[in-house]
Order: sequence, then C-alpha cells, then structure tokens
Amino acid sequence: MEQTFIMIKPDGVQRGLVGEIIGRFEKKGFSLKGLKLITVDRAFAEKHYADLSAKPFFNGLVEYIVSGPVVAMVWEGKGVVTTGRKIIGATNPLESAPGTIRGDYAIDIGRNVIHGSDAVESARKEIALWFPEGVAEWQSSLHSWIYE
Ligand code: UDP
Ligand code: MG
Repeated sequence: MEQTFIMIKPDGVQRGLVGEIIGRFEKKGFSLKGLKLITVDRAFAEKHYADLSAKPFFNGLVEYIVSGPVVAMVWEGKGVVTTGRKIIGATNPLESAPGTIRGDYAIDIGRNVIHGSDAVESARKEIALWFPEGVAEWQSSLHSWIYE
C-alpha cells in the first residue's frame, strides 16, 4: 500500500496544531505507520530539501525547519501521496483553499505549517531519510470499513 512522508513544521508544533493535523489524516481513513517529534540540524534539513538548494529562499527555509522540533510521520493508504497534498493545500497559504490545512491555519509561504511528499518516489526517499529505523507494520481492524 502507498505511503507518504508528512512533517508538521516547527510553527505547527509551536502553535499547537499537532492534534488537529493528525486528526485530519486519521479521520480520512489513512493509517499512521511512523511518528516522532524530532529537532533536526542544518545538514539534515539541507538533505531533505536538497532539490531546492538553488532557490533564493533555501537558506531561510533551512533556518525555519531547524528552528524547533517537528513531527515526522509516515501515513499509509490508497492514493495517500496525492490526497495528502490535497489535505495540506497549495504551497502558498494565500492560495490554499479553505478546508485545507494551509488554507485554514497559515498565511505566509515561509510559515506554511506542514510538509507532504509530492510523488511516490520522493515519498520513498523521504521516508528512508527520516525513518532509517523503519516504520511500524500493522493493519487497522477498521480496514474493511474503509476499503471495499
Ligand atoms: N517556500 C518558501 N518560499 C517560496 C517557495 C517555497 O519559503 O517561494 C518554502 C515553503 O515552506 C514550502 C517549502 O519551501 O513549503 C518547499 O517548497 P515546495 O515548492 O516543495 O512546496 P511544498 O511541496 O511544501 O508545497
Ligand atoms: Mg515540496
């Protein structure tokens, strides 16, 4: 089954949005497979965002990610990469639809509360980076109430 990497950024943790965000993924029916509160260093944040290293906002982005603990998660379910991005909303919160996490809880692009993998392949890489120890193997007893 498909998995994605979701991270609640330092602003989301500081603002007390952890429970709300986890609840949205849970209530959708996705399964939590990995979860940890972790503060990363510059080198790690640069690796996570390596694809953006040439961007003018890269340094500020790295500063933002290392500024406090983040909640790193792996969520599993049918279509979870694409649907996870929809739950999160557009990168710029001023353009994110109301009802999405960024649409409801953020204003500035550099304080947009949450990260989600943008493709199955990047999800695989990000899960390997953030969870080298592996993730939990379990299946919800509600599985047959969520999937036909
Ligand atoms: N970002 C920023 N300024 C920009 C574009 C992006 O500060 O002009 C930050 C923002 O926090 C975003 C992150 O860099 O979430 C990664 O950018 P990406 O384009 O991958 O957006 P995402 O996949 O997070 O929607
Ligand atoms: Mg991205």
